[in-house]
Amino acid sequence: MSSTTRDYYDILGMAKGASIDEIKKSYRQLVMKHHPDRVPDQQKKAAEERFKEISEAYAVLSDAKKKQLYDQYGHAGIDSRYSTEDIFRGADFSSIFGNSGGGFGDIFEHIFGDAGGDIFSGASSSGRSRRRAGEDIQLQVSITLEQAAFGMEKDVSYYRHDDCTRCHGSGAEPGSSKTVCTTCSGQGAVRSGLGGFISFSQTCPKCQGAGQLIKDLCRGCSGAGRIKNKKNIKVTIPQGVDKGSVLRLRNEGHYGSGQRGDLYIYVDVKQHLKFTREGDNIRCKIRIDVLTAILGAEIDVPTLVDSVKMKIPAGTQPHTVFRLKGKGISNLRTKRFGDELVETEIEIPKRLSSKERKLLSEWAELRK
Ligand SMILES: [Zn+2]
Ligand SMILES: [Zn+2]
Repeated sequence: MSSTTRDYYDILGMAKGASIDEIKKSYRQLVMKHHPDRVPDQQKKAAEERFKEISEAYAVLSDAKKKQLYDQYGHAGIDSRYSTEDIFRGADFSSIFGNSGGGFGDIFEHIFGDAGGDIFSGASSSGRSRRRAGEDIQLQVSITLEQAAFGMEKDVSYYRHDDCTRCHGSGAEPGSSKTVCTTCSGQGAVRSGLGGFISFSQTCPKCQGAGQLIKDLCRGCSGAGRIKNKKNIKVTIPQGVDKGSVLRLRNEGHYGSGQRGDLYIYVDVKQHLKFTREGDNIRCKIRIDVLTAILGAEIDVPTLVDSVKMKIPAGTQPHTVFRLKGKGISNLRTKRFGDELVETEIEIPKRLSSKERKLLSEWAELRK
């Protein structure tokens, strides 16, 4: 999830839609100017913030795919698909700084290491690995096209591990004592030999490295330290989400070792009976009979909300596309609604009464 809400182009001082080459050039200049090592101490904090911001903007706009998403949907397009870590993953910083980067790798490590812990693992030169004890949870929600178009609050229930309140995660029954592990004599590790000179150390299988054994297991969690609970939450589905959008809810995942993982919600949008989605627009086909096409009429056309009257002009051809302004789907970024495209299909009667046949024959004569 992006940490800034400012426009990425603004941050880099670029016009919207600037090319990747221009973005690289601008970024290089900004980094030189705002490098925290080049400012007096009292301005360091502010410089670091600014540096983070421009690096994030660069990470997105220098990546063709992310740039396209951002151009189309803005921050929402990025946030719904990438975690902060993913925003930076794959960003090409090396071509900016070269191999003799003058300590730029270190500055990333310093700034981002202090800031988020899990940020930047992909791009950092030292390959900082992500550590989180509580596991993430992935869920899928299925919504209708109408719900995707207008957004909604969705009730979601799932099971997750919570800290056991009885033992606070230790797994030991409150008040029970611990004894020193007899297998490893409290060392947490045992040595195995292959005979002769070779021996190696391995985690004690009895106490799993703790060096101590719990005398009485917690009655709340049977010693696991955590319990499975059903969790109900309300998830705000933003208007404009599409199939494949991912929402990340921080710290709603499993609990483990003092931390919670995140909850990832994968959005699936069900197929609609009438409409297909084309970006922010929706398209539907309406069948009109041949006389309506010839003579024109006002007809009812379904929309995502209800229906509207639409004028079919006289002489309408098959596969004419009419545009109903603002009846499409809200853009994730601009919140502006797309249009509904209504394509005509013209129905030709398969059977005629004798009277109809006679009249049409007369008409055919007339057209000659
Ligand atoms: Zn417990
Ligand atoms: Zn042991």
